[in-house]
Amino acid sequence: MSNNPALPWYHKTYRWGQTNITEIDPTRYDIDWWRDYWQRTRVQGVIINAGGIVAYYPSRYPLHYRAQYLNDRDLFGELTRAAHEDGLTVLARMDSNRTTAQFFQEHTDWFTRDRDGKPYQAGEHYITCINSNYYTTFLPDVLREIIVNYHPEGFTDNSWSGLDRARICYCYNCERKFYEATGHDLPTGVDWEDVAYRAWIRWNYDCRLVLWDQNNAITQAVGGPECLWLGMNSGNLQHQSQRFRDMKAICERSEIVLLDYQTRGGDTDFYNNGDAGKLVHSLVGWDKLVPESMAQYQSRTPTFRLASKPGPEVHLWMAEGYAGGIQPWWHFISAYHEDRRQYRTPESSLRWHEGHEQYLINRRPLASVGVLWSQENIDFYGRDNAHERVMLPYNGIVRALIRSRIPYLPIHADHIVRDGADFKTLILPNLAAISDGQVQALRAFVAQGGNLVATGESTLYTEWGDRRPDFALADLLGVEATGNSEGSISAGPANQESYEKHSYLRLDPEQRATVDGPHSDDEPMVMGERHAVLRGFGETDILPFGGRLELVEPARDVEIPLTWIPPFPIFPPELAWMRRQSTDSPALTLREAGKGGRVAYFAADIDRCYARYNLPDHGDLLANVVRWATGEEMPLYVEGNGLIDCHLYHQPGRVILHLVNLTAAGQMPVEAYVPVGPLRVTLKLPPDVTGTQAQLLVDSYAIATAIEKGWVQCEVPSVRDHEVVVIS
Ligand SMILES: [Zn+2]
Repeated sequence: MSNNPALPWYHKTYRWGQTNITEIDPTRYDIDWWRDYWQRTRVQGVIINAGGIVAYYPSRYPLHYRAQYLNDRDLFGELTRAAHEDGLTVLARMDSNRTTAQFFQEHTDWFTRDRDGKPYQAGEHYITCINSNYYTTFLPDVLREIIVNYHPEGFTDNSWSGLDRARICYCYNCERKFYEATGHDLPTGVDWEDVAYRAWIRWNYDCRLVLWDQNNAITQAVGGPECLWLGMNSGNLQHQSQRFRDMKAICERSEIVLLDYQTRGGDTDFYNNGDAGKLVHSLVGWDKLVPESMAQYQSRTPTFRLASKPGPEVHLWMAEGYAGGIQPWWHFISAYHEDRRQYRTPESSLRWHEGHEQYLINRRPLASVGVLWSQENIDFYGRDNAHERVMLPYNGIVRALIRSRIPYLPIHADHIVRDGADFKTLILPNLAAISDGQVQALRAFVAQGGNLVATGESTLYTEWGDRRPDFALADLLGVEATGNSEGSISAGPANQESYEKHSYLRLDPEQRATVDGPHSDDEPMVMGERHAVLRGFGETDILPFGGRLELVEPARDVEIPLTWIPPFPIFPPELAWMRRQSTDSPALTLREAGKGGRVAYFAADIDRCYARYNLPDHGDLLANVVRWATGEEMPLYVEGNGLIDCHLYHQPGRVILHLVNLTAAGQMPVEAYVPVGPLRVTLKLPPDVTGTQAQLLVDSYAIATAIEKGWVQCEVPSVRDHEVVVIS
């Protein structure tokens, strides 16, 4: 731990370990071996299963179900004593959302109910209601018992937030409390137009925050002000929304954020981990810690709880975490393994972390581009299809920025006033649901010289997801909404007989790109310089599209470098000819606003398309537009082959550049790295950094620098999984 004993544990426990105890483990938990492993992996804190669904200590509460093989053993107590003797922080892990049938029989009014009054179950267990006395009486008693007997530094809870959004609880407590809070009866089902359903969504968020505060009041009253209760949170905002966890409000009330975001898979890619770290830090602050549970077992698609995950797959996830300011936390399921390869996986990574921890915490990001988000957009605009409506556009923008090595930060839409001055450009990736206050903040940002890039339906809805008559920023964007669109946001049919996705974009309709190639009589022959946003497309007049187009009426002062070409048949090949060469429908508009600020609006959902198709043309186009909007204000340029996720930070007297090599990410899982290099780095020096020294933290040697007019250049010869360059 940090040498300063005066610091509370949550400011100095940088590396964590968790052996998630299964019910049979009390018969075979080799505490001495694990103590040695804690030391080998340099962890400073451990998460130990205490109670909830399964108790690993002899609780005085008969309904607190004990692990099947616990017998008379006090495994939680033994482990807590051992960890404390070794100087480690202990978080007691709770898992509190369901109970046995016996518990249900004794307190039938503490449980969730469907509309017919039938209890919601998960397998043989019964799901408790967060508005019942299970959370206000039973669990508080358990928390107090654990604190008094074992003195853990704090608590964490894996599944603290109760029933998720997919199911409405109709228990008596919910009925009464919802009516008292909102004046509505419980909604009868999912209906986003129903005021009661909307109120129910908001109220559910509030209930989780009440629970958070209530648990903290209990643990801190009994265990002291540092005895925090910390529910676990996902780094995936859509998952947070499905569980009514308000990321911003939770971060505002917490001294540390524990992420349960263990791996890539499903709709999560490596880069999402770095993005999550930056997003959480932008809420909780950069001086606080954000440890994250990282699976060492084969998690997700498919899951094998007892098998080792390939080491490179784990290490790239961990490297992305470090780049985003996340602290490591190895996680095993069970205390006994026949596949012991997983023990080796985290050791090198955590030892490296220990050796360089001073560079990995307490730093400020350097970025000129902010990407806006809000959970309201996910809930009230995304509704039942947040993945396609909100998450794909966000991910498409972020991927394009990463691929082009443009440093960015995720920014909450409520923080435009607070943080806007740090950025040259703000991006709205289909930020459709937006409040009047957020709109005013964007106007002020542009009035002060800021640049905007907006896509799709951005600003076209209120914060409740009601469609506005026009874009709230119609005048700034230079387009009016018509209420019509072409194409769809869905993945579309796989079969080639259907061609709704076979649409294109026409580049600069007035000009042909090159004279090379055959000519048709009715095409323009004018040659000339194309707009900067079309850089790199000199040999083509069209780009593939395949997405949804918002039909807009452009203002007179906008430039239209791209227009839409309607779909035409794919199959058979004889029919695959363009029926209409062009339309007047803009796919992209550009204009100037404010004090020389630049505003770009994508009517074509290139962001969503890029997330879905990964076509280089879409990524290049997005990056070109962001570069055009931002001008010559990028703090970083990195040249060289490979998919490199660059994260740039500042500490007094030095800058820290993470280069995460995601070139191998096409393998799923990654079983072998694809080294890249050399990478030529050019970055703008902050006033307090001389740039005379550059040190590599992974390959451990110094490299030469060249300084010119406030910029420094250096060359990183090779990057295997990741590299960190410190320039001072
Ligand atoms: Zn209920």
